[in-house]
Amino acid sequence: MRNFQCPYCGVGCGLFIDEKGRVKGDFEHPANKGDICKKPIYLPKVLDKERIEKPLYREKKSEPFREITWEEAYGILLKTIKSLRPEELYFYLSGQLLTEDIYVINKFVKGFLKTNNIDANSRLCMATAVSAYKLAFGSDGVPCTYEDVDEGDTFIFIGSNAAIAHPVLFKRVLKRRREAEKVVIITVDPVETETAKKSDIHIPIKAGTDTVFLNSVLYVLYKEGWINREFIEKHTEGFEEALEEAKKFPPEVAARICDIREEDIYLVAEAFYRSKKLISFWCQGLNQSINGVMKNLALINLHLATGRINEGGCPFSLTGQPNAMGGREVGYLNAGLPGYRDVRNEEDRKFMENFWKTEGIKDKPGPTITEAIDLILQGKIKFLWVVGTNPAVSLPNLSKVHKALEKVFLVVQDAYFNDTVEYANLVLPASQIGEKRGVMTGSDRTITLCERFKKPFGESKPDWLIFAELARKMGFEEAFSYKDEEEIFREFALSTEGRLCDISELDYSKLPARWGKKWLYEDLKFLTPSGKARFHRATFDCAREEGFILITGRLKNQWHTMTRTGKSPELLKGEVPPFVLMNPEDAEALCVDEGDLVKLSVNGFEVERVVRIGNIKKGHLFTPFGYPKEFGIPVNVLMSDRTDPISKEPDLKFRGVKVIPVGKESIKELS
Ligand code: SF4
Repeated sequence: MRNFQCPYCGVGCGLFIDEKGRVKGDFEHPANKGDICKKPIYLPKVLDKERIEKPLYREKKSEPFREITWEEAYGILLKTIKSLRPEELYFYLSGQLLTEDIYVINKFVKGFLKTNNIDANSRLCMATAVSAYKLAFGSDGVPCTYEDVDEGDTFIFIGSNAAIAHPVLFKRVLKRRREAEKVVIITVDPVETETAKKSDIHIPIKAGTDTVFLNSVLYVLYKEGWINREFIEKHTEGFEEALEEAKKFPPEVAARICDIREEDIYLVAEAFYRSKKLISFWCQGLNQSINGVMKNLALINLHLATGRINEGGCPFSLTGQPNAMGGREVGYLNAGLPGYRDVRNEEDRKFMENFWKTEGIKDKPGPTITEAIDLILQGKIKFLWVVGTNPAVSLPNLSKVHKALEKVFLVVQDAYFNDTVEYANLVLPASQIGEKRGVMTGSDRTITLCERFKKPFGESKPDWLIFAELARKMGFEEAFSYKDEEEIFREFALSTEGRLCDISELDYSKLPARWGKKWLYEDLKFLTPSGKARFHRATFDCAREEGFILITGRLKNQWHTMTRTGKSPELLKGEVPPFVLMNPEDAEALCVDEGDLVKLSVNGFEVERVVRIGNIKKGHLFTPFGYPKEFGIPVNVLMSDRTDPISKEPDLKFRGVKVIPVGKESIKELS
């Protein structure tokens, strides 16, 4: 029996694989207490399907790949990296890597190649929540834990379809409702999602208008005298500015903008006032937006206005990937350093230079991934190394991305032949979950050790080892002479000593373990200069779009670009063909029926989808984002690469599209 953390969503369920190769929930694990959803059950069957077995290379992208040895691969990397300046290199990582992998790569790039040209797919996911937590509380980090769910009486899901995207957590909320009295679940979403269907109240908000709605709730709290003045005075600052903004959105104004009932705004305000413990959960519906940080802050403002932190509640950002939290702790985005440090802070840079026995860490954040795509097209970045992610499907404005992938010298390091491999010069086979040891951190800060339970596939190597071997060949022997993963973990753990995310006392034998107390700010001392939590003026912005508003999201049994889950017929059943959800009145006006094909079109780009008719707000459409190219053109070809001005997270859930009926012909579902 070998324990590991689920490699899919960020709930961070503890699992184990038994002697017969079956995956089960770990009853001892605090995140899931034995529970499990369908996705990891089929993991063993897909682990070895269509894997990359050996390093592959081609000088020109028009040529076929040829197999090469690892020594040749390192030789190509050395020659290419040495021929370029640090600012011409770029590294794009993943929240699916283990903490040890990320730590070594980040150390190599920021500490020894001396460039901050590094980002991760968390830019498409959690960057907004990270910015908002830092602005409100002075640091990243979810302030409470799953234990709080077992004490809550009001749960708000906004921009989150947790019933399918974070199912084990959602089941914990449902259990709480079954077992306690007067527990209420409220969902705010333009779609009547699975989460909305199981909620007590569904508020079908117009997409993109969350900041208006949340500001209006703050206005009502103030107007009705439902704010917690004592908490505001003692523990916060900036209330007056936040209120000034909120006053622009009285319920009659907000209801019109958000296309909801005024009563719904009062209802949520009253929930914030009367509940014993209110936990708000949010995910990409708030994060993936040009107004994302403001949406996050408007929600956090409500918690601060009513003192709903710790025993009274928590603003709980749900993480999309299994180890995005670990990546944040290691500082794998363009501005981060280990232990929630920042390259812009001199003390932080000096500490890490001393710790890594290096010098010259750059003091400016590198470009984010969408900025890097532009720099590739301008010829300023010439080398891109993609590790464990699939940007050819997951980034916005895909035709531009594909041009950049064509142009750049591209290294793809992955376990599988994903869509991005098509554009690669050099392909490196990476070992994956079960083939290497290391840790991941789930949404509530619990760190889990993932044990090895099978041999690495083919000639694949752990991601950390590939970078450590290259670094040694570049002359950094001492800094990268790790004998195993645990040595890396201990080095990272020591770097966190004295920080909020201090895990310096931990080693593998003590896991699973959560860093920080149950409540991160138990004494209500926050990490802002004043020690008080900060309200922020949450200003509203929304792209001007015409046509139907297209929202994108996840499928129930699928995960991201389906590189693993899409290889399981059991998980594909009922989830293909690629569909678009449409309101019945819109379908009637367009003369389309369930099962018909339509084209979604914007700026000359088109994708085909099969119509499903359901309860989605009129004028809105929903389609899952993760289908790889074998299922047709990915929807992100339609999505804009405009970003939130603070977090630089793309606006992946809001695009005006035309709908063009194609015909009555249906695509058969997989059975
Ligand atoms: Fe894995 Fe998430 Fe399902 Fe838990 S809820 S088993 S972490 S996919």
